Amino acid sequence: MQSQSSRRLACIFCRIADGLERNPILYRDDTYTVFRDRRPASTNHLLVITNEHVRDVTCLRGRAEVVDGLVHVATTLLQKEDADLGDVRFGFHWPPFHLVSHLHLHAIHPASQMAWTSRLIFRPGLWFASPETAKAWLRKQDGGDGAAPGRQQQQQQQQQHDQRQERRDSDDQLEGVTRRVAQLSTN
Ligand SMILES: [Zn+2]
Ligand SMILES: [Zn+2]
Repeated sequence: MQSQSSRRLACIFCRIADGLERNPILYRDDTYTVFRDRRPASTNHLLVITNEHVRDVTCLRGRAEVVDGLVHVATTLLQKEDADLGDVRFGFHWPPFHLVSHLHLHAIHPASQMAWTSRLIFRPGLWFASPETAKAWLRKQDGGDGAAPGRQQQQQQQQQHDQRQERRDSDDQLEGVTRRVAQLSTN
């Protein structure tokens, strides 16, 4: 426990999630925290992080639903601000091209108003992956672990079972986010 808490103290995003930094928190629940990027690439530049310390998106093998959770939180918050959801750039800096080693989703709006430097930094490609690309990569890793066929089938069945359970859990969680964000706007 000691080593875990000292790691949290050393990680800037864990510190923000724990309320130890001055960054205003836009949204927080048991799983996610949202705050603004210190160097916004457009009018709205949200960072959605997991409260849990996860190094980067490639560490979500077997947990691709976390990507959906991050996107859902960002989308719900942007919707609250009447953002045009067709003009949002979502994505993850792909390792080693991330500055902070704590999983974070960038949500930038309006994407059409980014300066050219930002367009480069947040251009889907080698160093910046859209949520869809990230999920496709994660699914590929999960599917191709080279286990023996029988064992693989067994694993798949177990995985499908786990995924169904996780999906139910994450459905509940997504509803919770929507409810909490709605409450934010009435307060
Ligand atoms: Zn962290
Ligand atoms: Zn980043």
